[in-house]
Amino acid sequence: SIVVTGATGHLGRHVVTQLLERVPADRITAVVRDASKAADLADRGVRIAIADYNAPETFDGLFSPGDKVLLISGTEFDRGRVAQHRVVIDAAKAAGVALLAYTSAPGSLTAALADDHRGTERVLLASGLPYVLLRNGWYHENYTENLAPVLAHDAVVAAAGEGRVSSASRADYAAAAVAVLTGEGHENKTYELGGDEAWSFAEYAAELSRQTGREIAYNTVTPEVLTDILSGAGLPGPMAAIIAGTDVSIGKGELVVTTGDLSRLAGRPTTPLSEAVTAALKD
Ligand code: NDP
Repeated sequence: SIVVTGATGHLGRHVVTQLLERVPADRITAVVRDASKAADLADRGVRIAIADYNAPETFDGLFSPGDKVLLISGTEFDRGRVAQHRVVIDAAKAAGVALLAYTSAPGSLTAALADDHRGTERVLLASGLPYVLLRNGWYHENYTENLAPVLAHDAVVAAAGEGRVSSASRADYAAAAVAVLTGEGHENKTYELGGDEAWSFAEYAAELSRQTGREIAYNTVTPEVLTDILSGAGLPGPMAAIIAGTDVSIGKGELVVTTGDLSRLAGRPTTPLSEAVTAALKD
């Protein structure tokens, strides 16, 4: 079977939904923490397995020889994500799966956020399993799902200077994962994934202005000021610092991806940022 962890997360849902268009539902296993969140997937015939990265025993017997596994990276930054991911990799290795694909971060990213991804990649390579590194770039949704403060102040605030970012939609990254899970010849490949077009925050503000008919500015601030603004808005301090650190990386061009791997795997151009903005403004 094709086994997807994090299946009730945003990316996981896109992956499972797109898999359902390609393979019979009973060949798909959704690994979830909370079965009630996966009721709709179960209704569609997807097999549900309940497991938690924090509880190795929950992965006992979950995988079968020959499975193709998508390990979607977790979100519990304070709980040791490398050790969490190792739990899944060890169980997959013990079962003898055919492939383990991991949602990583671009190889060029030096921000603190990348550390867990590099650590997990090392564990995966050392396991000897046939692997695929899906080094996902940024999501459009990181921006378009956070429009409320932008529209409240008519300003995009970031610490990225003139830096550009090759974002793409979660659905695009999911399409790449589905191509790898359902296709052949991806063993031991590393894909640097990003949108076809990189944009700057000034261009993003201009696009928002165009679509709203308002004048939305780009205010570039220092990482310290951004951390304060985000903490002031209620984000936990460490998370605010992580976001500011990522903006610094964007300022240095570390989230520009030029490989074309994403549109090649998806078999179509990536979703333009303008389309994601339009969809977000409709909500
Ligand atoms: P979500 O937060 O929507 O989903 C995260 C998934 O991880 C959820 O399904 C969650 O389970 C699962 N998860 C978290 N902790 C555990 C655990 N201990 N055991 C089992 N499952 C766990 O994130 P997205 O789907 O949007 O993104 C996928 C991943 O990509 C993120 O987890 C993060 O690592 C990374 N990311 C990438 C970004 C980018 O721009 N490239 C931006 C943000 C995150 P549950 O459904 O039960 O909560």
